[in-house]
Amino acid sequence: MSYRALYRVFRPQRFSEVIGQEHISQTLKNALINNRLAHAYLFCGPRGTGKTSSAKILAKAVNCLSPIDGEPCNECANCQAINQDHFMDVLEIDAASNRGIDEIREIRDKVKFAPSEGKRKIYIIDEVHMLTNEAFNALLKTLEEPPEHVLFILATTDPQKIPLTILSRCQRFDFRKINTTEIRDHLAQITVSENISITEDALNTVSRKASGGMRDAISILDQCIAFAGERIESSHVQLVLGTLGEEDMIELMNQVIAVNYGQMFMSLYHYLAQGKDVKQIIRDLMEYARQLLLLKVAPQEEMINLSAEVLAQAKQQAAKVSVTFLGDMINRLNQTEKDIRYANQPQILLESALVDIMLAQSGDSPKKQTTAPAKNDAPAPQTPVTKAPTKKLLSAEDIIKQWQQVKQALRDAGHVVIGGYLHAAEIKGWEDDILVLKFSPEGSFHYHQMLQKDNQKILEDILSQFAGKTVKVKFFLENESGEFEQNYSLAEDAIKVFGEEKVEIID
Ligand SMILES: [Zn+2]
Repeated sequence: MSYRALYRVFRPQRFSEVIGQEHISQTLKNALINNRLAHAYLFCGPRGTGKTSSAKILAKAVNCLSPIDGEPCNECANCQAINQDHFMDVLEIDAASNRGIDEIREIRDKVKFAPSEGKRKIYIIDEVHMLTNEAFNALLKTLEEPPEHVLFILATTDPQKIPLTILSRCQRFDFRKINTTEIRDHLAQITVSENISITEDALNTVSRKASGGMRDAISILDQCIAFAGERIESSHVQLVLGTLGEEDMIELMNQVIAVNYGQMFMSLYHYLAQGKDVKQIIRDLMEYARQLLLLKVAPQEEMINLSAEVLAQAKQQAAKVSVTFLGDMINRLNQTEKDIRYANQPQILLESALVDIMLAQSGDSPKKQTTAPAKNDAPAPQTPVTKAPTKKLLSAEDIIKQWQQVKQALRDAGHVVIGGYLHAAEIKGWEDDILVLKFSPEGSFHYHQMLQKDNQKILEDILSQFAGKTVKVKFFLENESGEFEQNYSLAEDAIKVFGEEKVEIID
C-alpha cells in the first residue's frame, strides 16, 4: 500500500473534527439547522487553521442528502462526490494561481443556472485577496444580486487586501491560530492511530514549530516519519527542523543565568557546527524564555508546552530570574531576529545579544535592582526616556566607570542594537569632549554600523546627556596588522578640500 500523506488522511470531514474553531463551527451548524445561511462567507485566518476544510464541510452539509444536526453524513452520494472532488455544483478556485478575470466572468455567467446535482451551487475561492481588481469587480456584480441557489465561500490569509465593497457583502469568520496544546493532543491521537511511537519531547517540539497551523504540524510529523520511521525521538525532529531540543535550551539558559560566557560561546559553536540556523536558535530561545515567563506568571498546565522530563528544571530556572529579565530577553532576541536579516554575520549579533542579556542578569548594569528575583515584580516599563545619570561625566575614567550605564541607557531608549554593536568596542581615550572608541578586527561589522550617521548621533546624544555637555565620538578599527583605520572624518575632510557638491557619500 502506498503511503498517503497524513494531512490528507486526517483532514477533518465534519465540523466537530475541525480543531480550535468551535466558535465558527457552531455558528455555521446553527445557520444550517435553522436554514438561515448567508449568501457569502469570508473565512479569514493564518495558513493551516482549517479555512478550506471548513469550506468543504459547509459545501457538503449544504448538499448532503441526510445531514445530522448541521453536520454532513459523509456517506450519501453527494457527500462522497464532494469528498472525491467531482461534484458538479461545488467549484473550487485558487485565486493564487488563477488571478485572471476569466474564471470570475465564467462564474458570473453561469451563476444564474440552477444547480445540476445538489441543492445549492457552492463557489469556494481560496486566497481570494490575490484576485485582480477587474476580477474583484466582476465578483462584486455577482455578490450584489446573488441567486437564491448560490453560496460563495471566500477564504484568505490576508483580509486587509480585500476591497470593502466585497467585505461588506460577506459574513466574516476569523479563524484563530490553534494553540500548541490542541495541536499536541491532536498529533498524539494521530500517532496512536497510526502506530507511531513518539517521545513527549519530540511531540512538543513539532507542536511548537507549527506556529498555530494544524496542517503544518501534521506535515512536520509526516517529514519526521519519512526520516525516522515509526519511532520518533526528539533528536529526529531537531534534525528535520534544524531546531534546538528542550535539553539544549535548558543548557543554554543555564549558562545565561549563571553568566557563564565561555560555556555559552561553546554551546553556540556546537549548535552551529551541527548545522543549526542562527535564526532558528533565536526563535527557539525566545519561545523558551516565553515558557519560563509563563511558568512565573501563568503556570496553568494548559499554557505550558514543555515535556515532563524538563519541567522541573525549567521551574528551577524560572525561579532564578525575574519577569523583567525574561521580558527584556524576549524583546532583545526579537530585535536581534529582525536585525540579522541585514547582517553579514548573524552569529555575532546573536552572541552580542546573549552577552547583553547576561550582563543584565549579572547586575553589571543599572538594571541590577530590578533583576533580583522578587515576588511582585511587574513587567518592565516601556519608557523611552533615558535614565537621569547619577553624576556628570567629566573624565575618561568616569566614562569608563559608567560605560555599562551608557549602554543600558541606549537600550532603555530603544536602541538595543546600538548597545549590541558597542560590545565590540573598547574605550581608548577622552580628549576635548571627544570619546575615542576602538574596534578590534573581529568587530569590523559593528564598527561600520556605528559609522552610520544616525547610530553615531544617537550615541553622542546619550553621552551628552550623561556628561551634561556636548560630547562627540570617534571610532577606530584595528586591522589585522594592528594598525588603525579611522573613517569617521574622511567625508568631512573631503568636503572641506573639494567642496560639498563634488563629494558624494556612499554608505
Ligand atoms: Zn451526506
